[in-house]
Amino acid sequence: MPIYEYRCNDCGRRVTLFWRSFSEIKEAPPRCTFCGGEDLTRLISRVAVARSEESRLENLADPSSLAGLDENDPKSMARWMRKMSREMGEELGPEFDEVVDRLESGQSPEEIEETMPDLGGELGVGDEF
Ligand SMILES: [Zn+2]
Repeated sequence: MPIYEYRCNDCGRRVTLFWRSFSEIKEAPPRCTFCGGEDLTRLISRVAVARSEESRLENLADPSSLAGLDENDPKSMARWMRKMSREMGEELGPEFDEVVDRLESGQSPEEIEETMPDLGGELGVGDEF
């Protein structure tokens, strides 16, 4: 799961994008997650760091780190997502925080996705793990 950092030239924010595969990067232009702008500059210096984040994510995908994760228990998912966020040392953005908060308050992922269609299914602990 490649992770790249960009600087959005429209709103000036730093954008972290997760890609399902390297081929997806070529097919779809990166888009700012804050303003939707497509004028993004990749932060080359961050790529090496992103690689290590990727391997840390792989570590997280280790079954032992998934221990205690119950996808049917929103609070368990929220705990796991917070842990993942901490491991990455990254701000994952206001949407991520909102999702975690809502999971903690007991909402199901389905309910949250219904009201936040932009998430596009990113919420799951998905196939790439
Ligand atoms: Zn932007």
